[in-house]
Amino acid sequence: MNAAQRIKEVSELLHRANRAYYVDARPIMADAEYDRLLAELAELERKYPELAEDTSPTKRVGGEPIEGFVTRKHAAPMLSIDNTYSEADVTAWYNRMLGQLGLNKPEEGGLFGSAGGVGGLPRMLADPKIDGLAMSLRYERGVLAAAVTRGDGVKGDDVTHSVRTIRAVPLKLNDAAGVPIPEVLEVRGEVYFPLKEFARVNAEREAAGEELFMNPRNAAAGTLKQLDPSVTAARKLGFLAHGRGECSDKGFAGSFTEFLDRVGQLGVPSSGLSVACGTLEEVLAAIRDFDQRRHTLPYMTDGMVVRLDDFAMQDALGTTSKSPRWVIAYKFPAERKTTKLISVDHQVGKSGKITPRAVMEPVLIAGTTVQHATLHNYGRVRAAPVDPENPTGETTSIHLGDTVYIEKAGEIIPYVSGVVLGKRPAGAAAVEAPAACPVCSGPVEVEPPEAIENPAIETQRFCVNPQCPAQVREKLIWFAGRKQMDIDGLGEKTVDQIRAEPGIPLSSFADIFRLSAHRDALLKLDRMGEKKVDNLLAGIEAAKGRGLGKLLGAMGIRHVGDSTGKSLAKMYPDLDALLAAEEPQLRPKACNKEEASRYGLPTDPKERQETGLGKDTAPAVHAFLHSEQARRTFAELRELGVDLASHDYVKPGERKQATGFFAGKSLVITGTLTSYEREDLAVVLTGLGAKVSGSVSSKTSILVCGEKAGSKLDKARELGVAVMEEPELLERLRELGVEPAGR
Ligand SMILES: [Zn+2]
Repeated sequence: MNAAQRIKEVSELLHRANRAYYVDARPIMADAEYDRLLAELAELERKYPELAEDTSPTKRVGGEPIEGFVTRKHAAPMLSIDNTYSEADVTAWYNRMLGQLGLNKPEEGGLFGSAGGVGGLPRMLADPKIDGLAMSLRYERGVLAAAVTRGDGVKGDDVTHSVRTIRAVPLKLNDAAGVPIPEVLEVRGEVYFPLKEFARVNAEREAAGEELFMNPRNAAAGTLKQLDPSVTAARKLGFLAHGRGECSDKGFAGSFTEFLDRVGQLGVPSSGLSVACGTLEEVLAAIRDFDQRRHTLPYMTDGMVVRLDDFAMQDALGTTSKSPRWVIAYKFPAERKTTKLISVDHQVGKSGKITPRAVMEPVLIAGTTVQHATLHNYGRVRAAPVDPENPTGETTSIHLGDTVYIEKAGEIIPYVSGVVLGKRPAGAAAVEAPAACPVCSGPVEVEPPEAIENPAIETQRFCVNPQCPAQVREKLIWFAGRKQMDIDGLGEKTVDQIRAEPGIPLSSFADIFRLSAHRDALLKLDRMGEKKVDNLLAGIEAAKGRGLGKLLGAMGIRHVGDSTGKSLAKMYPDLDALLAAEEPQLRPKACNKEEASRYGLPTDPKERQETGLGKDTAPAVHAFLHSEQARRTFAELRELGVDLASHDYVKPGERKQATGFFAGKSLVITGTLTSYEREDLAVVLTGLGAKVSGSVSSKTSILVCGEKAGSKLDKARELGVAVMEEPELLERLRELGVEPAGR
């Protein structure tokens, strides 16, 4: 096969994998395989740049960061939708609409005859209202030409460079679906932050000592406004269609149902949760029903959008000056409870960050009872909203004994969203930020520095004493954690127990690896039998071999979480090589031309490695790696036999070859499988490095065999070819991290 054919084949596999995942919700490929094929394609395109197309899946990332945003006018205005919290308003809107359509007297036939609904009523559609960022995708001749935010409805920010990194957004519409592609097609929809991603990114930010996102919508908006598309790509945003803009082909779709169906076939996903309703009662029932079920969705929703399905009817109703008459949004009130603030804890994390946490009278919210809630930071303690329901912008500092509003960010993390000022007890004292570390009494620093003048803008406060016992404890627990060095037997309780014993020093990472010298003292600890101690020591011994990437991620270095640790380890074969690097070399993507030539990097940032740090974090990380504290830690760990070589190192320009069970094997698939269509399975196996062919021969390594297998099975038996049935196949795939269907 020549390069052009392979490029075409791999591109199509990747486009198909995206559609399968986002439109059909039936993944056909593991993430790791997707990444591997993407790397193969990138390499081919590097060798044969003339064959690289603009819509290639590789063109999702790697563009240069841009300087600022260009605003762009919408071809058809992006009007906002009227919204309400009351069913009575929905009813009034519905009846008004029937009147405008002349359908309130069905016996007269109205403007549109029977109108496709029940008893002469128009067909309605109720659609989940996703809490994200509205976006207009413009396709010209089937290719993504622009992605623009709603902005003021007339013009918005052109964020095409960021939106291209969203895998749910096709760069090219699927021309194999048999749906004629209009010359111009604008699909409106919502860019959202999946809740799981929200939790993951916040955990990573927490680990790296960075400020947390307040909720998924803000996180999505903040991510899209990133000028550096590689940051957007790293946070796996989603997209779901929910409306149409300009469409050059009037016959493309006659109704919204048809529109969603057609754009779905072209590869643009929608929620798949639209409910068709024939009557007002059905609309209201759909809303109530959805409110019961929406908490299980992988994204945030805050209501339902109810609209007339038929486009001709929509056009007949038209719009008011600010919103269309044919649609209304019913919003579920955010679950918000009030309770009494008893006290405030000041918790010191492993990076020294001091976080205020509210201790409250227990309250039931969104399914769980909570008595602790984050207050985020001291800036928010000093300027908390008064009654978040009517945001007048008025703020107050939080006082002990206040009645406070509690909400859940991303429906998970409880936080204090405001204060009921009218219920403040007389003589209540304002919550003060600690002037010294609440644990070690050491000095504190605030960020941003301007917050010293203007305390309401404070975002972070740190204890800067590296010997702070609270920091040391948190660092040790973090270091031993499952996702870091994964030391069996060294959990929070054991760390505390050992640290309480003066005979066993445990105040540095190196001390962990010295515990084997204290076996007898460990045995004397409460509830520490022989078996437990040996298990712990074996866990510590095993952790010596985790490699540089894990170690960096485990050290609790500010701005270095587990993925950043691994990313650095991809660039350097060992610690010495990392330490020999100068600051700009830690951020290859962000090097300017002069730096690139100084360090022998390709001039085009697209050709540089997709690893390393960002411009903002590299200086701090470089400074830490060369600090006295780090130098001592590394020297001690080296002496104790901790592996400082990288297990993730990738030579520039090289990609990992497929390995694993199926790599290099020649397979044939036959019969009916319950977990895969045969065609999809072939894609998966090809991605894993197998060659899949149609007929059994003596060269076939394995016949993958489903139900009702026929002559191929006979042939395989005759030739002595190994036969693999579905349970074993699934097991083998699972070992390689591939799960069929279902997310
Ligand atoms: Zn401290």
